[in-house]
Amino acid sequence: MMGLHPTHVGDNLAEELAHVYAQLQQHHFVAVGEIGMDLYWDKTYQKAQQEAFAQQIAWALEFDLPIVIHCREAFDEIFEVLEGVNNPKLRGIFHCFTGNATQAQRAIDLNMYVGIGGVVTFKNGGLAETLPHIPLASVVLETDAPYLAPTPHRGKRNEPSFLPLIAAKAAAVYGISVQEISEITAQNAKKLFAF
Ligand SMILES: [Zn+2]
Repeated sequence: MMGLHPTHVGDNLAEELAHVYAQLQQHHFVAVGEIGMDLYWDKTYQKAQQEAFAQQIAWALEFDLPIVIHCREAFDEIFEVLEGVNNPKLRGIFHCFTGNATQAQRAIDLNMYVGIGGVVTFKNGGLAETLPHIPLASVVLETDAPYLAPTPHRGKRNEPSFLPLIAAKAAAVYGISVQEISEITAQNAKKLFAF
């Protein structure tokens, strides 16, 4: 993927965005990301983050690529941008989703998949309770490696080989087999990334 992460939006924004656009022109990418907003660490650049997000969405549409959204304490701000775009060609993933069922449905209505990672295995993570309300046709699995390692590796370095732990937990939540959830989420990912 190619994109300017919201936590890297700062005073040199124009320069950073020019670099992203040049890379998109020069190389082949499967998505524009991670892009979005992160108001957890710092709200100084809230407006700039929103502008960078909107600009990169425009480029995703120009290059016909999906987007991968990083959203931390910024659902309303992100939905404001996405709803403003109002283009059926826009598609993507809310990566490492940690919102509620209403937010998931709002994302799905905007043509987004919901990315489920290690948080679903966390005690008190809340995601396992929300997951049954999210239609499987809109779910993809992910690692976010090296972060958010699933239980029993929580707090350690995450890696893609831990993905079956996430699949097993998600399958248990939906009451289906690991085989079934693997097939469905793999199909969803292939469809989105046009593999
Ligand atoms: Zn992220």
